[in-house]
Amino acid sequence: MNFELTKEQKRIKQSAYEFAQKELAPYALEREDKGEWPYEVWEKMRSLGYTGLITPEEYGGSAFGNSVYLDSILVLEEFARADDAFATSFQVHNLIQDMFLLYGSDEQKKEWLPKLASGEIMGAFALTEPDAGSDARAITTRAELINGEWVINGTKIFITNAGLKNSMGVMLMAVTAEDANGRKEISSIIVPRETPGFTKGNKFKKVGWNIMDTRELIFRDCRVPEKNLFGARGKGLNQALGGLNLGRIDFGAIGTGVAQAALDHSLKYAKQRVQFGKPICKNQVIAFMLADMATNVETARMHAYRAAWLKDSGKPHEIEATMAKVVASEIANKNVMMGFQIHGGSGFVKEYEISRLYRNVKILDIGEGTSEICRLVISRSLGC
Ligand SMILES: Cc1cc2nc3c(=O)[nH]c(=O)nc-3n(C[C@H](O)[C@H](O)[C@H](O)COP(=O)(O)OP(=O)(O)OC[C@H]3O[C@@H](n4cnc5c(N)ncnc54)[C@H](O)[C@@H]3O)c2cc1C
Repeated sequence: MNFELTKEQKRIKQSAYEFAQKELAPYALEREDKGEWPYEVWEKMRSLGYTGLITPEEYGGSAFGNSVYLDSILVLEEFARADDAFATSFQVHNLIQDMFLLYGSDEQKKEWLPKLASGEIMGAFALTEPDAGSDARAITTRAELINGEWVINGTKIFITNAGLKNSMGVMLMAVTAEDANGRKEISSIIVPRETPGFTKGNKFKKVGWNIMDTRELIFRDCRVPEKNLFGARGKGLNQALGGLNLGRIDFGAIGTGVAQAALDHSLKYAKQRVQFGKPICKNQVIAFMLADMATNVETARMHAYRAAWLKDSGKPHEIEATMAKVVASEIANKNVMMGFQIHGGSGFVKEYEISRLYRNVKILDIGEGTSEICRLVISRSLGC
């Protein structure tokens, strides 16, 4: 057992830290206020190979070696430490590349991965619908094969990245048939950006993660060629859940980054803020909160790294990914609440970073499978 990152992994993490502290952290509050996606940062990421972290060189990515997924979450953790809204939008892009690697046909990999890995286009994933959130099988968006084209009708909700000007369009899950018992056949279909019949609703005004582009997507007699069926027909839900395995490891890393950010900002504040003639961190109650926050960060990090290591090793990792997601999202919430308390009234003022984390952190318990659904998955593995 080796708990130490290799020299190369430490270099990857340090470079990501430096990039994120320069390009993301100083602007995170201002960008959240404006609610605009920072395309200029994306362009810089493209030139540094960050947009193709998990895709091998043969498809135009920068993945290298045998710890690609662990390497990728080292980057994600540092990006989330600086700006979790940005990191989570980026995470969807990685998830889509993983879906292509896992389930795409050779032609689809050759056609889509180089554009995704180079960052020319950004990945988007559309499963959720107004009446189908946790219950993914309840989706009603339909795709019918008519004269060599899929004709799509339906509405998706809460979809990230699909409204960006450099979006791929979307990887969509739709009902493509029903069997004699009414059981749905669900397939994934690639819908490119400018396809007629594919329209985007307004960007949601959210409590946090305002730079993230999250919208409703509407499909009205939207036609794509038959070859846009992604991977095997009828495997859409398996593909979506397979993609979510990386998504949950990613949320493990993002939660770790947020928990670390809460510690960073709170420790600095507690050392500077003087009350009763001494820095507030000299009160044991505050010092112990900081000690708990530091311990929490390590707990979340270990879960996320282990799940990524399992995926890199080709071992089953669904349960560990799900555990990493629950642990890190709940720890991020705890750390942000403690950090808020340490900041006193200042935490309630929008110019403090902890207030941004406070507005953002709750959604970590909901995205990529709610805490309840994750516990359902874990408890089923225990035979419950
Ligand atoms: C900012 C943002 C970005 C998103 N991006 C995307 C995206 O890019 N693509 C995409 O497809 N989706 C996306 N989503 C949707 C997200 O995945 C869903 O919000 C999430 O899966 C939960 O679904 P829901 O909101 O419909 O909640 P519901 O499923 O309605 O759940 C409501 C509550 O009931 C609980 N619950 C439901 N069923 C059970 C059960 N069986 N047992 C116990 N408790 C249960 C849930 O845990 C939750 O607490 C995004 C959402 C947000 C807010």
